[in-house]
Amino acid sequence: MSKGLPKRSEDYSLWYNELVKRADLAENSAVRGCMVIKPYGFSIWEKMQAELDRMFKKTGHSNAYFPLFIPKSYLSREASHVEGFAKECAVVTHYRLKADPSGKGVIVDPEAALEEELIVRPTSETVIWSTYKNWIQSYRDLPLLINQWANVVRWEMRTRLFLRTSEFLWQEGHTAHETKKEAEEETIRMMNVYATFAENFMALPVIKGKKSESEKFAGAESTYCIEAMMQDGKALQAGTSHFLGQNFAKAFDVKFATREGGLEYVWGTSWGVSTRLMGALIMAHSDDQGLVLPPKLAPIQVVIIPIFKREDELEAIRAKANEIMESLEDLGISVKFDDRDTHKPGWKFAEYELKGVPLRLGIGPRDLANNTVEMARRDTLSKSVVDLDEHLAATIKETLADIQESIYRKASAFTQEKTTTVDTWEDFVEVLEQKGGFIAAHWDGTAETEERIKEQTKATIRCIPLDQQAEEGSCILTGKPSVGRVLFARAY
Ligand code: AMP
Repeated sequence: MSKGLPKRSEDYSLWYNELVKRADLAENSAVRGCMVIKPYGFSIWEKMQAELDRMFKKTGHSNAYFPLFIPKSYLSREASHVEGFAKECAVVTHYRLKADPSGKGVIVDPEAALEEELIVRPTSETVIWSTYKNWIQSYRDLPLLINQWANVVRWEMRTRLFLRTSEFLWQEGHTAHETKKEAEEETIRMMNVYATFAENFMALPVIKGKKSESEKFAGAESTYCIEAMMQDGKALQAGTSHFLGQNFAKAFDVKFATREGGLEYVWGTSWGVSTRLMGALIMAHSDDQGLVLPPKLAPIQVVIIPIFKREDELEAIRAKANEIMESLEDLGISVKFDDRDTHKPGWKFAEYELKGVPLRLGIGPRDLANNTVEMARRDTLSKSVVDLDEHLAATIKETLADIQESIYRKASAFTQEKTTTVDTWEDFVEVLEQKGGFIAAHWDGTAETEERIKEQTKATIRCIPLDQQAEEGSCILTGKPSVGRVLFARAY
């Protein structure tokens, strides 16, 4: 095994990058900002996808697929949308290459220029609303509740594996409704679905809130989000849900015959979470030994490692391991028996610690003689000796549930500890420098003040939290009246 990971306290950023690579989650590719997601990383993403997909279907949504390419003219139909995305667009201009006349390699065939250039989708509102125009005629066609799992491209300048890549995987929900109220309810419903998923599956506490005007999605009337706190005191936007008003319906002329016999523009929403959630999962829970995965998203929940010198010892352990595996699989617990003789048990212990497998069972000849196993928890790194009897599978199931719970509690306590309420500019700057985290402070509600704070401190308004008491005060920067606190933080 190679030397240990860098320490979080010494270089958090390096720790993260090294962990992503060494735990076999992902690696950089030849194209800057694009990543290869490796099988172990992808299996965690698949678990996230499966659960989210189940939740979307339960709330009435169906999956569909729309094209990767968007005609350039579509993007300009909604003015603020194109303004927001123009700087990050990859554009396809030609459809053919030809041999380079110099004899070396190929060049773009100048005769194969596209009549209309194509944008590689940075998000699909435009292509989807141009389709909805044909799908929606009357109130009977509504609500239309569609989700797509796809890749998108945003030409990001500062990239980081999972957290911000130029191509990323995500889901994007796009819904159409009869009334403003219904669309607003859908926006909030999906933010709540994201929050429930983050908390129940990722063991990640999140703050639900509304974005300020300057942080909202380009083309939306309002954006709701879930924000999470990472271990270095920086915030991460983990999911967004947008109320689109009638903006895209107007841009693509999507009208419906109302119940009253009139003709009205459709109300819309869109919402998305991406492979950034992988980054959130890693950054929120992992430690200097490696990944710490919540059992509900761990591809392998239990690993059994035999400790043996002779082949006959391995055979006796294997017989026991098979029994254990069967009883665990009966309870729906995923388990791996690593009987490779190419690596020593100590190497394997470190490897599964690095990979974040929640529970490790070690069995040697002495354990067999005593009818016990050694059980090690990844989250606390604590070990205990457990009887090898008919209760073992149930004990393991309970322990996994306890791990899921404890990881959440730990992250939750951390988020609370990293949330500070301040009332003066001096305190704001000091907390930001010394402690980081979320800072609940008063703001005068203007984009100008928000911008000045960002310029001076790099802190942005993460959200206007939904779950808080109304409280009037005065802005930390300008002293002007404020109608309530907002959460500031430096963010990824
Ligand atoms: P948006 O469409 O901008 O609201 O983003 C939808 C979701 O994708 C949000 O949860 C973002 O956090 C996430 N996201 C945005 N840009 C990136 C990126 N470059 N890499 C990974 N995830 C992203």
